[in-house]
Amino acid sequence: MSFSNLKDMYKQVILDHSKYPHNYGVIESGYKLEMLNPSCGDKITISMNIENNIIKDIKFIGTGCSISMSSASMMTDELKNLTVEEADNKINNFLNMIMGLDYDVNLLEDSISLENISQLPARVKCATLGWKISEKILKQRSDTVE
Ligand code: ZN
Repeated sequence: MSFSNLKDMYKQVILDHSKYPHNYGVIESGYKLEMLNPSCGDKITISMNIENNIIKDIKFIGTGCSISMSSASMMTDELKNLTVEEADNKINNFLNMIMGLDYDVNLLEDSISLENISQLPARVKCATLGWKISEKILKQRSDTVE
């Protein structure tokens, strides 16, 4: 795997998150979902505690490459304490960035460091895995609630 297309500053943010992941763990009583990225071997489980339409807590566990782990770590920081709608919007915005589409830079925090992944097609699924799991949890939840 090559990081050579990434800016040094961004590289450091990614490596820090993969080395010292934020919100690592499982919320036993929360919504839980595991998904795989077979092309790389990444496996992530996201768990969320949602109360009154707000993501009160979100954690992840997993194994895989540093892109998948750091992206999931950034995501847990960035979705915590948002409403379900705000979180959904942030997830879409991040996925747009990774797909090379238009996105709002103001909605990104550390995850802006992954912007050049859009130029590394083999890593796209690594960077989006955690975010797609959260998207699915939020969608399944709204399917079952109302
Ligand atoms: Zn990966």
